[in-house]
Amino acid sequence: MRKSLKIAGAASACVLTGAVLYGSGAASADGGANPTHSTEPYNIGKLVGEIDDYYGAEQDDDGTWTSSPDSDYAKDLARVQHEAKKDIRQATQHGKHHRHGKPALVLDIDDTSLLSFDYERSTNYTFDEETWNEYVSKADRPAVFGMPELVEYAKKRGVEIFFLTGLSEDLRKPAVKNLEKVGFDTKLDKSHVFTKDKANPPSYLDHCATPAKWECSTVEYKAGTREHLEDKGFHIVGNFGDQQSDLDGGHAKKGYKLPNPTYFVE
Ligand SMILES: [Mg+2]
Repeated sequence: MRKSLKIAGAASACVLTGAVLYGSGAASADGGANPTHSTEPYNIGKLVGEIDDYYGAEQDDDGTWTSSPDSDYAKDLARVQHEAKKDIRQATQHGKHHRHGKPALVLDIDDTSLLSFDYERSTNYTFDEETWNEYVSKADRPAVFGMPELVEYAKKRGVEIFFLTGLSEDLRKPAVKNLEKVGFDTKLDKSHVFTKDKANPPSYLDHCATPAKWECSTVEYKAGTREHLEDKGFHIVGNFGDQQSDLDGGHAKKGYKLPNPTYFVE
């Protein structure tokens, strides 16, 4: 889902860039008026600059783009995490969790647990499946600021941690290796890390996926997997994602939307 939409996003970005370049030529010829547009889209060049500022973007000598821990992005993350910790504390005190099942958190991976800013910035926010897969396969993404600490906080209070990603089953190994490397010190086996396995979809997704055909939307896949966890006796007290589609569909007490202005997954 992310792939196709990001290709669509990339195509739009190309069109926009072309339009901006062409438009500036047209503007000098006709005095700047453009009667065919009543609402001109936001300037993509300015937007890239604003996103740089938001992440506190810096480029290392080796060309890697990093985000600053003092950035507005990091501050926005910290606000969400502060609220989540308060909720986790309340949900787990006095054995409250026994009423509804064992408390659990569900975390998306891309840009919820592992930060892809280097890929996004260096590709000018476009997407290509081959280069994306190469990037993920390096298992060298940094953690999203504060997320390993949030997991540790929840773990100490008896909360089970699950990762639920749109990454394909082929990318399980590097994803798990990367999570370990940046300090997600929790169970990362197949029953705790859920990938999109189109060749062998689980039976609980049989309403939208068979080995012959995967037709689950992001929401169907993710909400269906959360429902499966509930069926196994877990009470999902927090569901974390950088896309609204990570959070829609229910089967969690509360969703936590992390910031990501760099792409959109329906
Ligand atoms: Mg994500």
